[in-house]
Amino acid sequence: MIRKVREHPSQNEPLLFELSSPGKRGYQLPDLDVPAVDARAALGAENTRDDIAGFPEVSEVEAIRHFTRLSTWNYAIDLGLYPLGSCTMKYNPRVNEAVARTEGLAWAHPYQPESLSQGAMEIIARLETALAEITGMDAVTLQPAAGAHGELTGILLIRALLESRGNPRRKVLIPDSAHGTNPATAAMAGYEVVHAASNERGMLDVAELTRLVDDDVAAIMITNPNTLGVFEEQITAIAALLHSKGALVYMDGANMNALVGVARPGDFGADAMHLNLHKTFSTPHGGGGPGCGAVAVKAALEPFLPAPRLARSGDGWTWNHHRPHSIGRVRAFYGNFGVIVRALAYIMAHGGPGLRAATLDAVANANYLRKRLEPYYELPYAAPSMHECVFSDERQVKHGVRTGDIAKRLIDYGFHPYTVSFPLIVHGALMIEPTETESKQELDLFADALIAIAAEAEQNPDLVLTAPHGTRTSRVDEVAAARKPVLRWRLS
Ligand SMILES: *Cc1c(COP(=O)(O)O)cnc(C)c1O
Repeated sequence: MIRKVREHPSQNEPLLFELSSPGKRGYQLPDLDVPAVDARAALGAENTRDDIAGFPEVSEVEAIRHFTRLSTWNYAIDLGLYPLGSCTMKYNPRVNEAVARTEGLAWAHPYQPESLSQGAMEIIARLETALAEITGMDAVTLQPAAGAHGELTGILLIRALLESRGNPRRKVLIPDSAHGTNPATAAMAGYEVVHAASNERGMLDVAELTRLVDDDVAAIMITNPNTLGVFEEQITAIAALLHSKGALVYMDGANMNALVGVARPGDFGADAMHLNLHKTFSTPHGGGGPGCGAVAVKAALEPFLPAPRLARSGDGWTWNHHRPHSIGRVRAFYGNFGVIVRALAYIMAHGGPGLRAATLDAVANANYLRKRLEPYYELPYAAPSMHECVFSDERQVKHGVRTGDIAKRLIDYGFHPYTVSFPLIVHGALMIEPTETESKQELDLFADALIAIAAEAEQNPDLVLTAPHGTRTSRVDEVAAARKPVLRWRLS
């Protein structure tokens, strides 16, 4: 079955400025029943103006309908599968949103006295404990506001520990499959980046690493499963190698959707890691909203964690600001509290067995798509897939069709495109992560669409090369859009 190609009756929508007609108003006010005040006299001339040139004049219902119609142009996780996966847009149960909106939590203020904040502090404490258990680590900070921020915190912790041992060292090892934030983090923390190549199975090579690890290496930053969706099978040997040279293992935990409840980084040798609570643990973040890059560490790094830390006081909690070895604060107050609430709600609603089931479903879904698509798309690495699978456009390129064209044609079939051209070590990559919530029906619709596009690429490549056909705009100049963005509607 193929989902109907999207039609957009609402896509002839003009600009709000074009809907305007002089004198229309969106509101009516009653006659004043208090003395009128001259706004200019009250506010000062510099704070007032008589007119806004070209300001649109429309009725209330025109404004509402205009913006509602525009909102239907957006693809959304509530409409269908979003193959960008947990890294960008994973469906999460609505109950987490309901809990985060509870009045006492949503309106809690960071300057409230501790005696009135005990519930919020208990939530932070419980989440730290749950994440320590999930990761197999000893202590957790929830201060960092994003994954990259967590990385920076983690590497600064490692630097602080090594410094306390007498030498912060100079280099950080980073695999060629790493997310771009990893080398950026190492550089910002003052380290030289040394690249480690993956082997033909898409994994790190212990022999190659043995050559690179010396007494000047502070740490390796490793993503597991890596950005190919492949589990680093040699991870314990890699960790042992680093440790034997006095270096540490930092794990980028953005792909924990593939591990929660099944394997713990603390058990396979990680010393510090971050979790993206806004990826794996519920908060939606496709629009770049608030996040939490929780950092989990082994006991040796605990003294350096950002201050303040929660401490027991009687049968309640207090904030301990006396942390002489701390790297200091990395963020105002205590982190993004709403994200923290959602993550704890997500964890408690699932429970241990439920979290494990979500992981197994995410992996099963990715492997189901992999099996269905393997006959039609090139699979550059044969190693088993975890939560995502990565194809290349090698077969379609013979007909002039590239990954970006296939992605745009998917829009006509009613799906958001997959991740295009990442990871960089796969030429013409199609990276697909369905996540745990998708049904077999939805996965089949998505696979049928990609299989149909593979046939189109062979038989009618022009159809794919000019897609999408069902949207208001089709191909835009992406380079100009990035280099010379027009951010302002110019009034004539
Ligand atoms: C998303 C991601 C990051 C960065 O996280 P942000 O919250 O966007 O800063 C780092 N590493 C990997 C592998 C990621 O997927």
